[in-house]
Amino acid sequence: MQISQDAVVSIHYTLTDDTGKKLDSSDGTPLAYLHGNGNLIPGLERELEGKAAGDKLNVKIAAADAYGEYDKSLVQRVPRRALKGVGNVSVGMQLHTQSAHGVRAVTVTQIVGDMVTIDGNHPLAGQNLNFDVEVAEVRVATEEELAHGHVHGPGGHDHDH
Ligand SMILES: [Zn+2]
Repeated sequence: MQISQDAVVSIHYTLTDDTGKKLDSSDGTPLAYLHGNGNLIPGLERELEGKAAGDKLNVKIAAADAYGEYDKSLVQRVPRRALKGVGNVSVGMQLHTQSAHGVRAVTVTQIVGDMVTIDGNHPLAGQNLNFDVEVAEVRVATEEELAHGHVHGPGGHDHDH
């Protein structure tokens, strides 16, 4: 079976940045996802289209097709008191802030005196992503998986209904 819209696909993958540093990997347990439902970054789904179990691919996804270009306007300096309710604010901490566009995940990148710099970019924004992928399995999705828009069982969502 070839990878196409709504197929359940399991992949082994290793993700590295342009310097060869490993950012993430499936680490022995394949990642299962529902193809064409926005579960993976668009650039990777496009490369996997039409592939079958056993196929290997090595792809470079440009930042724009991965987690987006780095957007300086998402970096803000706010007084520490604006983050009330958050205990000890420290560099590297992930926070959820309320903005005009809803709840947003931000990372604390700097603290100088009473001012805290928060960055709303995805941690991988602005980076090209290099994927080493091996397709482990391709199967037809169940009706329940299609209704939920994600995969159930090993490598996928594990929840009771
Ligand atoms: Zn579900």
